[in-house]
Amino acid sequence: MNNPDTRVGVIGGGYAGMAAAVELAAQGIPVTVFESAKQLGGRARGVEYNGLKLDNGQHLLLGCYRDTLRLIEQVGGDIERDFLRLPLQLDLHGHFSLQAPRLPAPLHLLIALLRADGLTWGERIKAARFMLALRGMNFRLPQDITVAELLARHGQDADLTLKLWEPLCIAALNTPIRKASAQVLLNVLRDALNRTRADSDMLLPRLDFTELFPQRAAAYVERHGGKVLLSCGVEAIVPGNDGIDLITTQGAHTFSHVVCAAPPVVAAKLLHPIAELADAVRQIETLEHQPIYTVYLQYPAHVRLPHPMLGLHRRISQWLFDKGRIAEQHGLIASVISAEGIHQDLSQDELANKVISELREEFGIADGPTWFKVIAEKRATFCCAPGLQRPAQQTAHPRLYLAGDYTAGDYPATLEGAVQSGLRCAALLTLPAGPRMKS
Ligand SMILES: Cc1cc2nc3c(=O)[nH]c(=O)nc-3n(C[C@H](O)[C@H](O)[C@H](O)COP(=O)(O)OP(=O)(O)OC[C@H]3O[C@@H](n4cnc5c(N)ncnc54)[C@H](O)[C@@H]3O)c2cc1C
Repeated sequence: MNNPDTRVGVIGGGYAGMAAAVELAAQGIPVTVFESAKQLGGRARGVEYNGLKLDNGQHLLLGCYRDTLRLIEQVGGDIERDFLRLPLQLDLHGHFSLQAPRLPAPLHLLIALLRADGLTWGERIKAARFMLALRGMNFRLPQDITVAELLARHGQDADLTLKLWEPLCIAALNTPIRKASAQVLLNVLRDALNRTRADSDMLLPRLDFTELFPQRAAAYVERHGGKVLLSCGVEAIVPGNDGIDLITTQGAHTFSHVVCAAPPVVAAKLLHPIAELADAVRQIETLEHQPIYTVYLQYPAHVRLPHPMLGLHRRISQWLFDKGRIAEQHGLIASVISAEGIHQDLSQDELANKVISELREEFGIADGPTWFKVIAEKRATFCCAPGLQRPAQQTAHPRLYLAGDYTAGDYPATLEGAVQSGLRCAALLTLPAGPRMKS
């Protein structure tokens, strides 16, 4: 039985905050979400442009994102209707192609590696051996190292790295291989490639990211007696004897418990004045960030790519998405450029023009786009370095919890990591012997 005095304030209506709110509301706990922006979703949000629904960046979910997919269904989504589901496939246009056959995991991957186009027989065998070695190690390293070091130790040569491991690592961790944590990459490979075949499916949403979960989650929270307040940023967290006050742009509110699900930079600012949280603040402040750029280009409706999603080899555009094939937005192409790189030195026009040239050279798209839109998320994710100490969801204050993709967990900065952190906060808060305070 939940303590009737429990009232929870959640700071931030991104995937982490809304996951915590849904879980608490489902248990009958009164919850209020404070979101500073006019809309929910945070770093995974819908953006309107020229009458079209875009996202702040093209996202991809994996079949192994079980908590996110479960929550989407819990709040009224339908996974098969909301997503285009593709079985594991990697295609670097004209250079490399791998497609998993309909066989149980991990056999599907081993066969895919042994049949991959664009690798020599020697490279295919090296890649398959590497996967078997990781499985033999239970995907655990005695000590975390960089992905580049792990690949070198397992004889993955430069060509194999460029065609397979580097694109995979950047897509999964948004961190270059020379800086990326091998252990976190192995956590993702373990969950995506080693359990069931459906875990490695790639799910491309047909809805924008605000509609997909946070908006439905807000309706769910409200149906269960909670509140979701937009344009209502929290300016200070003030712990007191009778609860925790949240000072917002629209007045003060007192709660028995607070889940801070703001992005790391904001969380550090809000937590800074609370002396007992100094260690958590220090951990947050040491996080570095990595960008993601998305270039949307609207071509005439007849323009199509050969696949809904495909990569380019040694180009500025890393992944291309044909939004016509995915979401009936015909002629709309999204080019995604993840992690740090030379693209950061280009102006938005220069970047878009590079992408346009690449599309012309690779696919013979002679038409120009009628418009383009570059969305640069400069702090898209934390830089997922080896041995990173991420702050725990349970803080040194017994009634204040931290949620967010940057908090402790197996995953890199992903929707699943964010959702899992929110669920963990809800679980900690509702532990039977958990501490309670009158509001
Ligand atoms: C371009 C891009 C592409 C990505 N691609 C993928 C992908 O393909 N797959 C994947 O799994 N992940 C991807 N990610 C990562 C994923 O989007 C994030 O990990 C996830 O959305 C983080 O959610 P969060 O709730 O932890 O934080 P956020 O989304 O940052 O949510 C925090 C919320 O707090 C709000 N807020 C801020 N300050 C305050 C305040 N003072 N008071 C109240 N509210 C406040 C913010 O407005 C925001 O809504 C991508 C990220 C980006 C940016």
